[in-house]
Amino acid sequence: MSLQLKRDNSGRSYQAIIIGGGPAGLTAGLYLARSRFDTLLIEKGIVGGQITNAERVENYPGFPKGVSGIELGQLIHEQATGYGLETLLAEVTEVAPDQKHNLVNTSEGNFVAESIIIASGAQFRRLEVPGEGKYVGRGVSYCATCDGPLFKGKPLAVIGGGDSAVTEALYLTKFASSVKLIHRRSQLRAGKIFEERATAEPKIEFMWDTVVTRIEGNAVVSKLTLKNTRNDRISVLEVSGVFVAIGSRPNSTQWQGVLPLDEEGYIITNELMETKIPGIFAAGDVRHNSARQVITAAGDGATAAISAARFLSF
Ligand code: NAP
Repeated sequence: MSLQLKRDNSGRSYQAIIIGGGPAGLTAGLYLARSRFDTLLIEKGIVGGQITNAERVENYPGFPKGVSGIELGQLIHEQATGYGLETLLAEVTEVAPDQKHNLVNTSEGNFVAESIIIASGAQFRRLEVPGEGKYVGRGVSYCATCDGPLFKGKPLAVIGGGDSAVTEALYLTKFASSVKLIHRRSQLRAGKIFEERATAEPKIEFMWDTVVTRIEGNAVVSKLTLKNTRNDRISVLEVSGVFVAIGSRPNSTQWQGVLPLDEEGYIITNELMETKIPGIFAAGDVRHNSARQVITAAGDGATAAISAARFLSF
């Protein structure tokens, strides 16, 4: 975060600028725009954020048959823009907090904001192996809750050895015919209780000291190439889906040294989504203790907007 920004008064001023167009940012935008606050949402990728990776979101209330992640993002966006939310596709390059004259520089121009809601989300760590990017949404998933029910009766693999990998593997046993839990070491990082549950679950089989080196298929994933890290033995595992659960990292690097972050880089807020700096709020997956679900991100966004509205009104 540079504090060397030139104050650019030619840039447009907004009462609120929201950084990030996932469910948290979009919902914050909906609430603020509907309350007649002059609000700009800045998104650097696709409106909808991480949910655009989900083939089907089946646990967002109001959609009894589910909804594609892309469509859900577009619907919330349409709802918010209907109330006057402005959207800018741009990358935020620098932010300089300055009470009610916060400077937000982007690849598409510079702005001044009386308040800021940081809803920049987190990104799942990727394996970075051949085939992973090609099959996202076609057998490669980073969210068992989102995509698990799509794999009824199918053999699956989960990659990772932490709490996420084990809880996702346990969840997936509700749907899958079998779940191979593939971990690069011979010991889980996950807590004992999760380990005990996974060990007791007949559908879960551990594959220790094993890494995925390639993901392959035709239209959808059909097999993984594996390497045993102890003896370098290569093997092929046939699966219909692979869930990568090797941790995530928040999109918060711009805030290092400016706002208190937890040890993993998530922004610390109180229950009103207030950060340590008055007028700057954080919501959704970028926030410490987020449950990392679409509905909780939307809830965070609503709370942050209500707090921002209060801040703007005084
Ligand atoms: P995590 O604890 O950081 O675990 C990541 C796992 O992925 C580790 O086992 C790690 O292996 C493995 N890994 C990392 N990079 C890899 C790579 N490139 N290839 C293969 N494996 C790789 O992440 P998490 O499981 O997402 O948990 C994050 C936090 O959320 C933790 O604090 C956790 O306790 C919490 N959480 C809690 C619950 C709950 O219900 N209480 C559920 C989920 C998450 P190594 O072990 O070898 O490093």
